[in-house]
Amino acid sequence: RYFPVATLKQLGIEAVNNAWSTGLMDGGEKNEEIKKIHSPVDGNLIASVRMATAADYNNVVNTAQEAFLIWRQMPAPKRGEIVRQIGNKLRENKEALGRLVSYEMGKIVQEGLGEVQEMIDICDFAVGLSRQLHGRTMHSERPSHRMYDQYHPLGIVGIISAFNFPVAVWSWNAMLAAVCGNVCIWKPSEKTPLAALACQHIIREVLADNDLPEGIFNLVIGDAGIGNLMAHDTRIPLLSATGSTPMGKKVGEAVGARLGRALLELGGNNAIIITPNADLEMAIRAVVFGAVGTCGQRCTSTRRLIVHDSVYEEVKERLLKIYANLPIGNPLQENILVGPLIDKTAAKAFEHAIAEVQIEGGKLLIGGEILSDGDYKTGTYVSPAIIEVENHYPTVQEETFGPILYLIKYSGSVEEAIALQNGVRQGLSSAIFSSNLLETETFLSAWGSDCGIANVNIGTSGAEIGGAFGGEKETGGGRESGSDAWKVYMRRQTNTINFGAELPLAQGIKFDI
Ligand code: NAD
Repeated sequence: RYFPVATLKQLGIEAVNNAWSTGLMDGGEKNEEIKKIHSPVDGNLIASVRMATAADYNNVVNTAQEAFLIWRQMPAPKRGEIVRQIGNKLRENKEALGRLVSYEMGKIVQEGLGEVQEMIDICDFAVGLSRQLHGRTMHSERPSHRMYDQYHPLGIVGIISAFNFPVAVWSWNAMLAAVCGNVCIWKPSEKTPLAALACQHIIREVLADNDLPEGIFNLVIGDAGIGNLMAHDTRIPLLSATGSTPMGKKVGEAVGARLGRALLELGGNNAIIITPNADLEMAIRAVVFGAVGTCGQRCTSTRRLIVHDSVYEEVKERLLKIYANLPIGNPLQENILVGPLIDKTAAKAFEHAIAEVQIEGGKLLIGGEILSDGDYKTGTYVSPAIIEVENHYPTVQEETFGPILYLIKYSGSVEEAIALQNGVRQGLSSAIFSSNLLETETFLSAWGSDCGIANVNIGTSGAEIGGAFGGEKETGGGRESGSDAWKVYMRRQTNTINFGAELPLAQGIKFDI
């Protein structure tokens, strides 16, 4: 059961219980702050990391600025070739990296492997994109004039990531930013720095093999303090920040005050609607994966289930049966579906939300406990809860990052269900289960779901990299990954070229001198 040290070694993380420096920052001022990283799976110490200082951070920014001068001159398809090699190295290390993600963060190994696969997929996507960073050609109103727009890199792209996707979210940003000609500085969550270090080792090898400076992809291990430096730093024209809404508000404000660009991917409060016309078999599977997958710690986790009263009791009974037999335990074991929460603080927040919502009128139907015996002694394992509530309860309006599923009944038309689904401050992911065209098209219409992601007969979690990912309202409005999300990593330039012998002015203005 113990996580093999050999796997850590393969990923370049040499010694358990040894301070691990932050790569590029070896030359910087030495920080005495060493952070011990314990696994939420068994409570064991995996490794220790040295936290970066402000001086370390400055060194990294300088290194990144120098690397940008080289990288921006490399043709985009050649940059794509580097990303292709990174993707191949990730393929070679998929098993080890997936297991490290699982052991450090606590998600089941299938999801850890899935996260690495997502990195590989975005590399492939970015390679293709490197030949397609298209601008448009427009017809000029003036004779012998040509007008077009083109996209140039921005410079340094800062990436602040959350603990729950320790590596995938970075790769969504970094691989796109890289083919666009930017250099990146990544500050992973201080709760999961080891998977980030493992990725940096992979990147380092590829850059060295190609005689390129390491400053193209940079890593800084630090907490909110370093994140705050990045938010205020005018040398970072684009800051992509993934995490809680309170964090996003602070970062958005700081970046906005200096008129920088912020790409914010924040909290969700996602709902599935089950109408009388739903295939319940499919719906229940999607609900359970969405609510208990990653132990309810996905930004797209299903938190609210809005069910028509004609099928409400049946849905409830079926869910209770499944919840009574959920395999909870060590996520590195193949048969387990629910691993631990990230730490004891998260378990306490889960317990607190369940107590609060019951005071507000909620009826706890199953689960809701912090488990404590035997293998559960870490205090990080909980039993997923189902609670009958009303949508307006204050606790239901908040995102609690754990496996709590709120059951909400509706009795009228699909419009009533949509109003409930939209009746929260967050706007990330939403889904409807129905085979009725009028219901599903209403859900997708301008007066339907107000979320960035709206799915039909698919749950709220488990997005593909090909689509643009992100949400509205307090989720922050950013879009990353697929579709044309790449445009946020570039600056647009409009060019007008006169190949005639006259100098006509636009709008026919006469200005004879
Ligand atoms: P968090 O907000 O505590 O931390 C996220 C990151 O922000 C960390 O790297 C942290 O060090 C940094 N940070 C915190 N305060 C900061 C500040 N004031 N300035 C700069 N940086 C700061 O979030 P978490 O607990 O790691 O992750 C869970 C949250 O992330 C949930 O709300 C979840 O919904 C959200 N999330 C959203 C998405 C999305 O794509 N929308 C994806 C994953 C997670």
